[in-house]
Amino acid sequence: MLNRVYNFSAGPATLPEAVLQQAAEEMLDYKGSGMSVMEMSHRSQQFMDIIESAERSLRKLMNIPENYKVLFLQGGASLQFIMVPMNLLNEAKKAEYVNTGAWSKKAIAEGKNIADINVVADSSDKTFSYIPEIDPDKIREDSSYLHITSNNTIYGTRFPTLPVTNLPIVTDMSSMILSEPIDVSKYGIIYAGAQKNIGPSGVTTVIIREDLIGNAENLPSILDYQKYAENGSLYNTPPTYAIYIAKLVFERLENFGGVEALHKINMQKAKMVYDAIDSSRLFEAHVQNTRDRSIMNIPFFAADDDINKKFIAEAGEAGLKTLKGHRSVGGMRASIYNAMRIEGCEKLVEFIKDFDGKNS
Ligand code: PMP
Repeated sequence: MLNRVYNFSAGPATLPEAVLQQAAEEMLDYKGSGMSVMEMSHRSQQFMDIIESAERSLRKLMNIPENYKVLFLQGGASLQFIMVPMNLLNEAKKAEYVNTGAWSKKAIAEGKNIADINVVADSSDKTFSYIPEIDPDKIREDSSYLHITSNNTIYGTRFPTLPVTNLPIVTDMSSMILSEPIDVSKYGIIYAGAQKNIGPSGVTTVIIREDLIGNAENLPSILDYQKYAENGSLYNTPPTYAIYIAKLVFERLENFGGVEALHKINMQKAKMVYDAIDSSRLFEAHVQNTRDRSIMNIPFFAADDDINKKFIAEAGEAGLKTLKGHRSVGGMRASIYNAMRIEGCEKLVEFIKDFDGKNS
């Protein structure tokens, strides 16, 4: 008898049960091959079909234009913090960043190793609880790119609009990729670690405009986008099993009606959780400004930390797991990625209301 919980983890995060089931069914013998995908050569026809199909599905789901490459890399989103400047810096070695949280800070710190970095906007003054306005005059026009973090996993904010600039926009979309329709052509690079909306950890998706590839000299091959682009992501052995699960997730999203259909449900899910927090007596959302609220990660807390501890413990007993907030914010965080079913959010809402009634 399966005992699956509602897992609100920020990542690695819950995956669609149907995908896990299919993977289980195919574990020992993938489509008559007599072997697991894990045991298969990455150059075999069967794996080539998997990776090509994953790319095709992702292109369809995100409506990725022809002049963009889709790469499946390793090293997590964190490797992109340094691969981006290594591959994109121009002669001036300048880059612009917006600081909206812990992951932006890490991207900036890595970039500073090799680039002259200008932080054009920063929301650290209010514990990253909002998305700062960007003054276009602060952006240096001779810079190589402007980097943002579209969705801030820890603080629960999301860029409501894109900055206005002629520079290529590079974004870390780890915690919101495929959660809502976006216009890929507005970006130079979109990168995302898989372990939230795509699949297991181990694979990082990089969607990159072709003209941004191959301009850097003397890069180590393993850090050069061109090497992966030339080899269909098979410069070396890719994370084959993670890519296989990603393919299953993409297929499922396509069958579900694509990103637009999903976005509607994601909005519904987020609204019900924010409404429950906003209308409670005990709890407050970390992000008050509704315009900047993430629909994927919802940090919230009670003023009294004993109440937070009690909430997390009792929610856990009720099958609502991994609700503890990140240590830098405290309280709780509900991550409600694509694979969190609406029932999970309904259960959480019920629990918040019940707990609030009993403890306030
Ligand atoms: N960026 C964002 C927005 C994240 O949420 C995370 C992980 N939670 C990272 C980067 C780091 O990802 P990884 O551990 O895959 O390097």
